[in-house]
Amino acid sequence: MNTVFNRLTAFAIVAVSFLHTAAAQDPIAQTPRNRVLIIGIDGTRRDALQRAQTPNLDALIQRGQLWENTQILGPRETQNDTVSGPGWTSFLTGVWADKHGIQDNGFKGNNIKNYPHLFARVRAQYTDAQLGSFVDWKPIDKYIVSEADKRVCHESHGAEAYTANDQRLTDEATEYIRSSDPHAVMVYLGAVDETGHAHGFHPSVPHYIRAIETVDGHVGSLIKAMKSRRRYEEENWLVLLSTDHGGQGTGHGGGRNIPEIRQTWLIVSGDAVINKDKQQPTYLVDLSVTALTHLGVKIDPQWGLDGKPVGIKSN
Ligand SMILES: [Zn+2]
Repeated sequence: MNTVFNRLTAFAIVAVSFLHTAAAQDPIAQTPRNRVLIIGIDGTRRDALQRAQTPNLDALIQRGQLWENTQILGPRETQNDTVSGPGWTSFLTGVWADKHGIQDNGFKGNNIKNYPHLFARVRAQYTDAQLGSFVDWKPIDKYIVSEADKRVCHESHGAEAYTANDQRLTDEATEYIRSSDPHAVMVYLGAVDETGHAHGFHPSVPHYIRAIETVDGHVGSLIKAMKSRRRYEEENWLVLLSTDHGGQGTGHGGGRNIPEIRQTWLIVSGDAVINKDKQQPTYLVDLSVTALTHLGVKIDPQWGLDGKPVGIKSN
């Protein structure tokens, strides 16, 4: 009797541990099926984007959609300035400043622990996901990024340094996309904004337009790397691009009521794009929620995310 009981117990333990192992090795539970490439181009006005020659962005828009009604401030009253700190935090966390707490570039009183970078949301669901972050504005890396497996930051000061580091980051990110197995990649490029501060944010400013055209070349390199992946056709990449604010004169602070600063653009591109309704209202916080949705992350209402998926189906 005892022997039979022991045998049954032993069988039950083996069966249970087998089930656990099977669940742990389920590739769908461990890694996202889909992939995302996010490119953030600081301080890019939508009318300047239209003026510049951007064949790579145009090709992405053809395989998706460009929205030009993207608001960098939400419908809810917030106190934040129209600068990079709150802008990139909203972009990367999917919530407005009254939740993430970043009002300006000082990053004081931040609540990013409770409203983390989208990579942290991916990691919570997919422990094996490969996540890469490439930036040349240091506060993003210092205060916002978490859970990145590959993390590159080149601190930059002045338009020349940003121009050089945008190229360097692009080279490093293309190498990473080609030679690793990333599920989400975020590349931040800062030279357009610095050029705006130095020469003016306006479609009539040649330096500013040239900076956008240079970034378009970087976008082309990143897309080429993505498409060169051996399993590219099966990976269902979604490409997302946007900015954190526009500009006027040589600045963009205090721009809450200035359309050239507060209304920007958003590109969502890939086979998953099914909704091309240009009238749909879009917001800065939609970007990371769209990325999470494409990756198959189940959005918990308790996270309090303010964004929604744009252009693609909700989960
Ligand atoms: Zn900025």
